[in-house]
Amino acid sequence: MRTLKGIPVTRGLVIGRAAIIEAPELSRVAKRRISPSDVEHELERLEAALEKSVEELNELHAEAQVELGTEAAKIFLFHIGALRDRSLLDPMRKAIAEEHVAAEYATAKTFGDLARAFGQRPDTTFRSKVSDLNDLADRVLRHLGASKLADHSHLAEDTVVIAPDLTPSQTAAFDRSKIVAFVTDLGGPTSHTAIVARALDLPAVVACNTATAEVDEGQTVIVDGQRGLVILDPDEDTIARYERERERSDAYRVSLNELADLPAVTADGVDIDLMANIEFPMEAAAIGHMGGQGVGLYRTEFLFLTSDTEPTEEVHYQAYAECVKNLDGMPLTIRTVDLGADKYTQRRKDIPERNPFLGLRSIRYCLQDLDMFRTQLRAILRASALGPMRVMFPLVTSITEFRQAKMLLHDAMEDLDDKGLAYDKDIKVGVMIEVPSAALMAPTFAREVDFFSIGTNDLVQYTLAVDRTNERVAHMYNPAHPAVLKLIRTVVRAADKRGIPVSCCGEAAAEPDIAPLLIGLGLRTLSLTAQGIPPLKRLIRSLDIEHCERIAAKAMRFDSDSEAAAYVRDQIQRLVPDAFDGRSVDLPEST
Ligand code: PEP
Ligand code: MG
Repeated sequence: MRTLKGIPVTRGLVIGRAAIIEAPELSRVAKRRISPSDVEHELERLEAALEKSVEELNELHAEAQVELGTEAAKIFLFHIGALRDRSLLDPMRKAIAEEHVAAEYATAKTFGDLARAFGQRPDTTFRSKVSDLNDLADRVLRHLGASKLADHSHLAEDTVVIAPDLTPSQTAAFDRSKIVAFVTDLGGPTSHTAIVARALDLPAVVACNTATAEVDEGQTVIVDGQRGLVILDPDEDTIARYERERERSDAYRVSLNELADLPAVTADGVDIDLMANIEFPMEAAAIGHMGGQGVGLYRTEFLFLTSDTEPTEEVHYQAYAECVKNLDGMPLTIRTVDLGADKYTQRRKDIPERNPFLGLRSIRYCLQDLDMFRTQLRAILRASALGPMRVMFPLVTSITEFRQAKMLLHDAMEDLDDKGLAYDKDIKVGVMIEVPSAALMAPTFAREVDFFSIGTNDLVQYTLAVDRTNERVAHMYNPAHPAVLKLIRTVVRAADKRGIPVSCCGEAAAEPDIAPLLIGLGLRTLSLTAQGIPPLKRLIRSLDIEHCERIAAKAMRFDSDSEAAAYVRDQIQRLVPDAFDGRSVDLPEST
């Protein structure tokens, strides 16, 4: 029995069998055997992956010709040629058909053998092609990996996915009847992959560093999503203890759900509105049962991330209409698509940006792809006729961006007027405050926008220059940093001065040590993953505003951010001794 440690993402304890989603590194691809009856299917998978790779390379070649010139673009011609070369393809097909190995292994082995042979040739022309071959193998493996994840037919029930990293769309496509948890080598707690795990209530541990190297295919593992532990080959005692813990934690959840009908009101009588963040329309149906009062953030980009094709106006409209129906009169805040950074579409992932978090993402992307943006805005407006709805734009950095986006919304309104289609003419239009520039300019924004929604996931990352998806700097990601708190205070003050609503919809709103700070800074609306609403409601009912204000004021005065965080945690623990209940369990730290 061994224990690996990572960053906890979603509470929950499960036991299952590991399925390793291979890293696209030739030497690390497991030799998965297939049955003779699967040969044909496996050959089809290989052909599909090869075809997709050639399609991509053709696109890249065309783009490179324009951007880099004919000579530089030739590299892609070599890649395309290699993928049509029978001396490369035949061994792959043969390995599948005769040795009965999976397409991933056949690909990795064939490319690996060729790369090794090239590397040993004295001629530098051959040696220089080794990295091309590795690149090419990566591409084909990626297409196989994606299809393997999309096709869960080979997975058993109670599967724990172990992967180097996962994209939000891979996680969103998980078959929940089979996959009970996942563990990744890389990633951070507020990455979108982690957020999707929370939305799906799927126990997960990220940043485990060596999980793919240390876990064997089929091995029994316990995933403790509360403490970030992965226990390999647990002994009987540990399994028994785990079962008891699970019962306790289930009972705890049930006791929390009993709070659903009680108001989220502080001990001294101040109402806090609790809203839900959603990624999929079906999630909206459960919000009322969890004690939520509506949707504070609908991440509409998941319409793109869960499909290979761009959503049409009708697809957008149907999704929003489903949310409205599921919410049964409760309000819906739709965020326009926030693509880019760690949420990329299939179409864009092969044109990597050097700094995607500082690149063409969110509202910037929408303002460059006007057709796509207009399509979404029309759908939002049409759906606004069906129930209470607000719209907000992500990652706005300047008032000009907001004005442009709002102008496009007005254009869309005129379109609908011309067609005689109904919509809410008074729809409220807000911005997300996710970057320091917007926070500092909040008084200016407050004159023109109808509401603010503070996105601490990004605000923390951009204020502290800490990539939210990077496990190496995860320890520096601190929402209680005085610099972050001061920015939040600026935004709340600007909103209060103009009398416009302000809420927080970052993951921090669900944290027992951060939510009281947010309340202390003046926030009265918090939006979080629906599963987090019951425990937060319980915490709020034991807090009082004066304490929260005192803690927030003092936290902002610390020089050191780690001392600020420690102080806040300590204070909350004193005030509400069970605030962190349900977070720690009685399982071995390491063995
Ligand atoms: C945020 O940045 O806090 C936010 C809610 O947006 P997302 O997590 O989708 O980037
Ligand atoms: Mg964000």
